[in-house]
Amino acid sequence: MQLQDLYTASRSFEETATMPLLFVGHGSPMNAIEETEFTKGWKKAADELPKPKAIICVSAHWQTKGTFLTSMKKPKTIHDFYGFPKALFDVEYPAPGSLALAEQTKNMIQKTEAQLDETWGLDHGCWSVVKQMYPNADVPVIEMSMDYTRSPQWHYELAKDLAALRKKGILIIGSGNIVHNLGMMNWHTPDNGFDWAEEANQKIKVLVIENDHQQLENYNLLGREIQLSVPTPEHFLPLLYVLGLKEKEEQVSFFNDKTVYGSISMTSLLIN
Ligand code: ZN
Repeated sequence: MQLQDLYTASRSFEETATMPLLFVGHGSPMNAIEETEFTKGWKKAADELPKPKAIICVSAHWQTKGTFLTSMKKPKTIHDFYGFPKALFDVEYPAPGSLALAEQTKNMIQKTEAQLDETWGLDHGCWSVVKQMYPNADVPVIEMSMDYTRSPQWHYELAKDLAALRKKGILIIGSGNIVHNLGMMNWHTPDNGFDWAEEANQKIKVLVIENDHQQLENYNLLGREIQLSVPTPEHFLPLLYVLGLKEKEEQVSFFNDKTVYGSISMTSLLIN
């Protein structure tokens, strides 16, 4: 089958075993073109996963009023950053879209009236990671936006509407960072986090292991370390999407569990 045919192929995806869930800490867009300890972790995750029929990515970098699903045939590679080398701006990730997946996802969502989108594409929260996982761009990818007018609880509940996709060979990826405070980054400590950042990362991991999603939905009540680590919601919310989809008995494996430049944690989760 030609790659382009994947766009409209299999109008309804066949039943499969339940696909794992993935939350990735994406960090610097440079991970897209470098080989780092983190890109190795993403590649290893891809090797361990069944090859998905398509990917739906909830990225920290697509916030909208309302919920949108990319539905174009060829999503463009969005270079939504500045101050990086030209080599990074030259990168194109030509994975096809999937109208079938966008339509099915729209129809599945009960919590709100999701809409199809023809204007966005793949932002770096999505492509910098997926390119490392599937360098041949042979898996269709769509993005789902996050409605910035909604509460963390709302996002967590919305995610549950997507549960059936997991039984259709679809890989759902949340891409953000558990600890993400750009204003407090320390360029002198590429391999360490501030005490508060390490503590916040650890606290979140414990709550994830304990399935204490109620506290995670109310993360802003968890104290100073978390408030410093999550000064704005967008990099944390993709984690809530993944947790909203997690079944209680499913196991969580953490990888890339490291805090860098003081205030960014790369901690990623594979759930199955
Ligand atoms: Zn980001």
